[in-house]
Formats: sequence, C-alpha cells, structure tokens
Amino acid sequence: MRDNIAGKVVVITGASSGLGAATARHLAEHGARLVLGARRLERLKSLAWDINLPPNAVLRTDVTSPDQVQNLINTAINLHGRIDVLINNAGIMPHSLLEQARLDDWNRAIDINLKGVLHGIAAAIEPMKQQKSGHIINVSSVAGHKVRPGSAVYAATKAAVLMLSEGLRQEVKAYNIRTTVLSPGAVQSELPQSVTDPNMASAIADFYENYAIPADSFARAVAFAINQPDDVDINEIQFRPTRQD
Ligand code: NDP
Repeated sequence: MRDNIAGKVVVITGASSGLGAATARHLAEHGARLVLGARRLERLKSLAWDINLPPNAVLRTDVTSPDQVQNLINTAINLHGRIDVLINNAGIMPHSLLEQARLDDWNRAIDINLKGVLHGIAAAIEPMKQQKSGHIINVSSVAGHKVRPGSAVYAATKAAVLMLSEGLRQEVKAYNIRTTVLSPGAVQSELPQSVTDPNMASAIADFYENYAIPADSFARAVAFAINQPDDVDINEIQFRPTRQD
C-alpha cells in the first residue's frame, strides 16, 4: 500500500507522555510533520529534540482552554500551510467510587476528556472544511464500552467521545474529512498516576503492572488509520492486551 503518512501535518494533544509521545515518535519515523501540545513544555522540548522537530513545533497547550487549542492548530497551519490530522489524545483517568463524591476529579475528567476533545474539533473543523480534507482522531477507551465500579465518570466521558465521534463522522464526511475513534485497553503510560484515590490508585497500578502492553501498540493503530487511502475511513478501532477482560 502507498504510504499515506509521509508529509502529513499531524497535531497531537497530550503528546508529552504515554500514548501521545509514542505516536509522535512512530509518525515521525513515517515522515509526518508534527505539531505537539501538552502542559509540560520541557517534556515536549525533549521529545522534539529526540525526533528532530523544530522547537516551534511544540507548544504548551492546556486542552481545557479553547484559545490554547486554537493556537496549537493555528501554529500547524502557520508552519506548514495546512492541518491533515488532529489527534485529540489528552486525557486523565481519576477513578473513584461515586459515593466518594470527588467533584474536583469529576470536573477535571469532563473538562479534559470531553470538553478538550470538543475544543480540538472546534479549532480544526473550519480549516479542514476549507481544505476539503482532513482527519480527526479521538481517543476513547474500552471503558467507553463497558463500565465497572470506580470507572463511572471516566467511562461516561469516554462513552461521550464515542458518540461525539460518530456524530462528527456523519456531519463532516461531506467535506471529505475522515474520523476515527480509538478505544484502547490497558497500555503502558503515566495514566495510572492520574488516579487520586489512594486505594483505587494502587489497584490500578498493580493491574497496569501485570497487564499493560507497550504504547507502540496504540501508535501502530493510529498509523493504520492514517495510512489508508483517502477514500477509506477507519471509523473505530478497539484493542486491548490479549489477557485483559
Ligand atoms: P499519560 O498520562 O501518559 O498521558 C496523558 C497526556 O495527556 C499527557 O501528555 C498529559 O500532558 C496530557 N494532558 C493531561 N491533562 C491535560 C490538559 N489539561 N491539557 C493538555 N494535555 C493534558 O496517559 P495516556 O498516554 O495513557 O493517555 C492518553 C489518552 O489515552 C487519554 O485520553 C487516555 O484516557 C487514553 N487511554 C489510555 C489508556 C491506557 O491504558 N494508557 C487506555 C484507554 C484510553 P501534560 O500533563 O504535560 O499536560
């Protein structure tokens, strides 16, 4: 198959660690032109150095700020004249039982996992419409398909991302914009560190220690979706460690 990644302008949110950073490394190897955002700028700079990105291709970006996300997209367009792919990847997983009423965690999860994705869509859709091409990739989770005790709010944000992605697909296909939603199971990253409830945190850390697969599994799934011919849209990919429920 002809490589359909080389030269593409790809913006990734939450690129400072885990799945986002692994995807940046993988797509860089395939010749993508990357623009990366996250809050930890030092991490982004060090990644940029590793993969030969110019320093102005990484930006401190908090996805809870629509202006900062717009600025990230504008940077890609200013640097490269277009945006081919947006990967709305930034997220947190602050699991806890609902009876604990951890309102701060709930609000942060909604602001980052759901509103953050909306901010990305809001910023990228108009330039992609004008180009009459583009690809918006949203990151959900197996938790968006199946809830468990402790994961209700996270699962709700990820289920919302599934619905949002299908609604987006139906609305933007007429503009030749592709949409993909990825639903990974346990993948090695810093995500378990976003659990603030100590009991839940240690159970999740153990689970990830035993089950999580390398982050390149996610990067390869993203690359598979991007690498299709322009008239093929991989709408959804769900994958998990072979031994995970
Ligand atoms: P990490 O914690 O390693 O990475 C999360 C990334 O999101 C970091 O780069 C972090 O950067 C960024 N982030 C967090 N909050 C914000 C914010 N407010 N604004 C901008 N960036 C932010 O975890 P993963 O790599 O695992 O997570 C990536 C995505 O994958 C998430 O959406 C997660 O829900 C999803 N996912 C992960 C799974 C897994 O098992 N790892 C399974 C299913 C889904 P910084 O702190 O520098 O801002």
